[in-house]
Amino acid sequence: ELEGISASFCRVRPHLSDEIDAKVVSFPTSTEALGRGIDLTQNGQKLSFTFDKVFMPDASQEDVFVEISQLVQSALDGYKYMCSLANDINQTALSYQVCIFAYGQTGSGKTYTMMGKPGPSDQKGLIPRSLEQVFEIRQILQAQGWKYEMQVSMLEIYNETIRDLLAPNRTGFDASRAEHAGKQYTIKHDANGNTHVSDLTIVDVRSSKEVSYLLERAAQSRSVGKTQMNEQSSRSHFVFTLRIMGYNESTEQQVQGVLNLIDLAGSERLSKSGSTGDRLKETQAINKSLSSLSDVIFALAKKEEHVPYRNSKLTYLLQPCLGGDSKTLMFVNVSPDPSSVGESLCSLRFAARVNACEIGVPRRQTSLK
Ligand code: ADP
Repeated sequence: ELEGISASFCRVRPHLSDEIDAKVVSFPTSTEALGRGIDLTQNGQKLSFTFDKVFMPDASQEDVFVEISQLVQSALDGYKYMCSLANDINQTALSYQVCIFAYGQTGSGKTYTMMGKPGPSDQKGLIPRSLEQVFEIRQILQAQGWKYEMQVSMLEIYNETIRDLLAPNRTGFDASRAEHAGKQYTIKHDANGNTHVSDLTIVDVRSSKEVSYLLERAAQSRSVGKTQMNEQSSRSHFVFTLRIMGYNESTEQQVQGVLNLIDLAGSERLSKSGSTGDRLKETQAINKSLSSLSDVIFALAKKEEHVPYRNSKLTYLLQPCLGGDSKTLMFVNVSPDPSSVGESLCSLRFAARVNACEIGVPRRQTSLK
């Protein structure tokens, strides 16, 4: 099986009310490129990119979810194998890893895609929809004798430092306090592809409502950091992890799956010369982790002997799902605003670099027309 990225999708958000439509983004109508191509016009030049799927601005949250629901299902199906440890779910069994990333500049629609917008339910993003699906299917499978344990953790990587977004303390959940309590958050992988982050809060969950509550808590923890630290949420990677462990007493089968849903830090190139102090440190950390991510995917696809997972916290944390027998989907979010055309091009090129190297599959090309 192919390692690295299994598929890449592009989503173009609609114009916001104060943006003018200068038609820098367009979509090819040829049958060949239908629903898979995107054209970007810069300085009168049209550049074309192809993805497994391109979502146009009018695509609804449901349209997007339909395309990933199979992936969510595979985390629930996991690796099935026999085991006779009645009543005891073996926590160290081999895990099937599914990973979905959202990549793009700040304001391109990553959070809208992953989390959605509060309010009407049609605005819900992939994370809440995935959870609803997991818990719905769990109920069906329970009728067939399956018992499940589900665990959630949520963390943020900011300046190469892990913050536990569900860390409890006396006043509730406040990650910034937990940071000062001598927590290490050391990343370790076991032989079964399970990742352990020391001191990270792991919460057992029984319903999607419970997870919604935790997501709200995590959002609060993030916004605490936001006022203290320079719009931190767009400067940090958000990693949501659902671990699924199932056991069927009557068939003595066991199943393990992990679903990682990741809202990456904004990919905009912040000028190094203009930033100083904390801002410079942030910029370097983001550039380092996003370029490490692309280096890792590139090395995997080219079957290079050395894969530089350890070059960043993000890639090291996600090593089992990037490299193993896993499914990884990359969303590249793009803004249609003319002022963003340079950044949009960078994002599309990032995806092209990540895709162009798929062995023996020259189906994605970046061509100058
Ligand atoms: P990012 O997470 O990349 O910084 P956001 O998800 O916050 O970007 O999106 C920026 C703004 O655009 C938000 O107000 C968001 O609600 C809106 N937006 C993004 N994508 C869509 C979409 N597909 N449909 C409607 N509004 C969107």
